[in-house]
Amino acid sequence: MVMNMAKYEPLFETEPSTLALANQTSNNQPHLLQVAPTIRDPPGYHDHTINIVQSDLDELRQGQTIRGLLTSVDNGHQHSVDVSMDSRGNFVMTSCDGTAQCWDGHSTQMTLVY
Ligand SMILES: [Zn+2]
Repeated sequence: MVMNMAKYEPLFETEPSTLALANQTSNNQPHLLQVAPTIRDPPGYHDHTINIVQSDLDELRQGQTIRGLLTSVDNGHQHSVDVSMDSRGNFVMTSCDGTAQCWDGHSTQMTLVY
């Protein structure tokens, strides 16, 4: 029997292991979000990056907000941020350490590096 397994996935009582593995691999693909650099001093010029995976990106594209993402540690600190996608498809920080903007002045606009 020849069939498109992805298309007929709902018909399987048990998800075929190759398909489960393919989905898992796809969902776990790494992506990188860049927090714009700040020039405020202190703490001095720095930026941050945030590691996310494909399933996070899919949720963002579906209009969901991802909360509590931890940035990289740069200049001796990191931030816990909430991220969503605006109507233009830009990634924005909707909260930084529990406030509207980061204490050290990072822009709320973020960039998807890959
Ligand atoms: Zn910072």
